[in-house]
Amino acid sequence: MLNTICKHNCKDCYALLVCAVHAIKDQQGSIYVETEECIGCGCCRTSCMEFSYDKALKDKTVEWLKGVG
Ligand code: SF4
Ligand code: SF4
Repeated sequence: MLNTICKHNCKDCYALLVCAVHAIKDQQGSIYVETEECIGCGCCRTSCMEFSYDKALKDKTVEWLKGVG
């Protein structure tokens, strides 16, 4: 089954590039996961700007980045 991840938020999908089993599909302007191919490794979540780094870092400060906040 194809599960929608997003409407192609990034110009180039980072999640698609890291999937070792090619379970992430770029079709009709959206990014999907083919759930029958996915092995649940979690790499796409680590690299996806929507689900990981962007949200994790958006509220952080320069002090936090330097380890003093
Ligand atoms: S990296 Fe994440 S937010 Fe960006 S296009 Fe891919 S699935 Fe969407
Ligand atoms: S969890 Fe792993 S196998 Fe599943 S879609 Fe993401 S990168 Fe691919």
